[in-house]
Amino acid sequence: MAQLSNRLNRLAPSATLAMSQKSSEMKAQGIDVINMSVGEPDFMTPDHIKKAGKKAIEDNYSKYSPVPGYPALKDAIVAKLKKENQLEYKSSEVIVGTGGKQGVCNTILALVNPEDEVIIPAPYWVSYPQMVKLAGGTPIIINAGFEQDFKITAEQLEKAITPKTKMLILCSPSNPTGSVYSKEELEELAKVISKHENLFVLSDEIYEHINYIGKHNSIAQFQGMKERTIICNGVSKAYAMTGWRLGWVAAPEWIVKGINKLQGQYTSGTSSVSQMAAIAAYTGDQACVEDMRKAFERRRDLIVKLAKEIPGFEVNVPQGAFYLFPKISSFFGKSDGTTTINNSTDFAMYLLEKAHVATVGGDAFGDPDCFRMSYATSDENIIEAMHRIKENLAKLK
Ligand code: PMP
Ligand code: GLU
Repeated sequence: MAQLSNRLNRLAPSATLAMSQKSSEMKAQGIDVINMSVGEPDFMTPDHIKKAGKKAIEDNYSKYSPVPGYPALKDAIVAKLKKENQLEYKSSEVIVGTGGKQGVCNTILALVNPEDEVIIPAPYWVSYPQMVKLAGGTPIIINAGFEQDFKITAEQLEKAITPKTKMLILCSPSNPTGSVYSKEELEELAKVISKHENLFVLSDEIYEHINYIGKHNSIAQFQGMKERTIICNGVSKAYAMTGWRLGWVAAPEWIVKGINKLQGQYTSGTSSVSQMAAIAAYTGDQACVEDMRKAFERRRDLIVKLAKEIPGFEVNVPQGAFYLFPKISSFFGKSDGTTTINNSTDFAMYLLEKAHVATVGGDAFGDPDCFRMSYATSDENIIEAMHRIKENLAKLK
């Protein structure tokens, strides 16, 4: 009988991409949907980066690139890590791949054995538990709800560690909550981690530059942490380059070598053209990054203000990324006469069908009391979406 592998049968599809797909289908039918489901900057890739991509095509960058990336790109990443993060890496400790997503998945596949436990604070980015399952590992979820600003404490972490724990996955600034761990909070976590010899941290820093509280801190910066931290980052969010599919990992050389072996067998080096564009991103003028960050901050203020005006919403103030993750459990059990809202997925579906605003239910992120809105869209769209949401939620009794 035709059947997919057990590995794939264990895997859930990406809820963020599924919701975005649904919103595109409705748009194709002529419905005016505002898409706040997928998290991607609405800005276009800055001109000087596009130009470098075009030049790469003209200059015949059309052959296989080295599996870990062009040396010039790795050098640019090494320089970025030194300048922005005060971290000293060698070129052999950096590997470039097909988006931040591949970096995260490669790291998990390179380190996690079947039976290993991987601690994932919830709310989490949808793909983490699925990638751990793909590797045969066991996701161990620690809940950090609305009341604790969606951040785990050092005590919670300590309690979750067992002899089987291989890895902690940290994402700061966070998708889906926008929470950012302070330097002090990271230091407390680092103290716990460094007590456990075989514990690694996958530090997903893809939202590094979209930060509203000042300087980004990486857990790799603390005493004894660089040897056990795998930084996953990329150009998708900071430089509005989601479609170019370019991300990277900085980690101890033995891990990078492992990832290189894996990548050599199933994707090879990422697009040569994208790599040339990424060199321009890292070595060029950084003003574009700050301009986009400022726009996101203004939109954060706007959406927080409007969300606080919606009865039934409980709203945290995100300190980074471009997501709002309000608590909406007060709507559960309510109905507009035809549709009853029983959970966060029903809630997101109701908003899509009635308000024509695409969002994602919190279930997919491990927090069934909340839902996620991406505010990487225009001020006009944010205002219109919040208006439609407010109007349609008022019908629920
Ligand atoms: N990590 C997080 C937390 C993300 O939100 C994303 C965006 N999809 C990624 C990694 C992957 O980024 P990329 O688009 O570069 O694959
Ligand atoms: N990071 C984005 C999101 O969470 C992109 C979608 C994805 O890769 O899952 O919406």
